[in-house]
Amino acid sequence: MQKKRLGLDMKEVMSYIDEHLNTAIEDVIRLCRFATVAAKKQDIVETADAVEGLLESVGLETVVHEIQGSPVITGWMDNGGSRTLMFYDHYDVQPAEPFDLWDSPPFEPEIRNGRIYGRGTCDNKGDIVSRVWALKAFLETNTDIPVNIKFIVEGEEEISSPNLPAFVENNEDFMHADAGIWEFGASDVTGIQEAWLGLKGLLYVQLEVEKMNLDGHSGYACIFPSAAYRLVWALDSLKAVDGSIKIDGFHTDVKPLSEADKKAIEKIDLHEDRIKEFYGMNEFMNGLTGDALKEAFYNAPTCNICGIKTGYQDEGSKTVIPARALAKLDFRLVVNQDPDDILKKLRKHLDKHGFSDVKIAWHEGYPAARTPIDHPFVEIVKRANVRSHGHAIHIHPTNPGSGPLYLFDRYVPMVSIGVADFYSRAHAPNESILVENFHLGMKRIAVIIDEMRNW
Ligand SMILES: [Zn+2]
Repeated sequence: MQKKRLGLDMKEVMSYIDEHLNTAIEDVIRLCRFATVAAKKQDIVETADAVEGLLESVGLETVVHEIQGSPVITGWMDNGGSRTLMFYDHYDVQPAEPFDLWDSPPFEPEIRNGRIYGRGTCDNKGDIVSRVWALKAFLETNTDIPVNIKFIVEGEEEISSPNLPAFVENNEDFMHADAGIWEFGASDVTGIQEAWLGLKGLLYVQLEVEKMNLDGHSGYACIFPSAAYRLVWALDSLKAVDGSIKIDGFHTDVKPLSEADKKAIEKIDLHEDRIKEFYGMNEFMNGLTGDALKEAFYNAPTCNICGIKTGYQDEGSKTVIPARALAKLDFRLVVNQDPDDILKKLRKHLDKHGFSDVKIAWHEGYPAARTPIDHPFVEIVKRANVRSHGHAIHIHPTNPGSGPLYLFDRYVPMVSIGVADFYSRAHAPNESILVENFHLGMKRIAVIIDEMRNW
């Protein structure tokens, strides 16, 4: 049968989505019944099969790439379009523990009060289904899809995508597209949709100090070296009380936000009071608020202690000099900062301040990535959101979190949007999505595809 004329049939596509919402939800539930916990290598093959089947069901040519680690599934649909749209998703999830904090079993998804509950609903199986179903609505209404479609769905995102760099390197031909939609996104606490144009980079290090072969009696603290103090002093040297990071050259490569970025974030309300209330804190670091808080949120690299371990920490007292001390630190990096360079600067800093005995025992990291705020695809997402959700989407220059976006950045500009909301509890018990967000999320993907006709 002849495909219908371009651009005339979105009403039918939208009605199809309305009429088949429940069937689409069944797909979310079906995928979320798999306990695809990457950290435990659970249900990987079964979920990969199910995802491949889902992509195939809308006519995508699929390949299951057997790589070291969980397979990557790719999907390709050549619609003869001049543009190509890519989706990046992941089919693995975080562990569901502690199970007793769930109101319903994490891998037996159920719908309550307009929400779909289950591990993976918001991160990121609900998104996978919403994207596939947007395509299905075009196909089932015999409507022309004006762009070519690519999917990359990996199974190790929740354990830092250790095998994705090799996959990207070996499949460079597949990596190119005109625009892409990244795995996650949500509406804010007031229901306004949010898009993220980037992710911060990361340098994670473990610092270790060992001053003796065994713990000593603390009576000898007058003459024995202290690993615990060495570590604390080294940590103290990294950061001033006002929060500024004291590593030489740490900020050298940080670029200020552009005028366009500043204009975009002017419109964004970070809901300071609600965050403070949620976390039970009196104020942000150094009393940050307003524009300064926003500036830090989007463009400040960080130096953070994730944990310190040394000596005796159980009940009562133990008079001891710990032989060893270790700390785990993460540095969130902004665009233009290179994790290898920061690692070198950290080592240099420690040596310069007399802490050559503080070892960087291991490290991992990757750079930040961002799509420019004035990229034409950002405009397409903005227009589409008004059509699907009836309001202007908030555009965040970057998300304060990190992810493997840098692997895609040089091939395809990505925008991160999705079907989660402020109360979705990603990674936590009672993870869920709003049925309404899922419903409108399918429509938004369909409208983005439609908006790409004229690009
Ligand atoms: Zn996650």
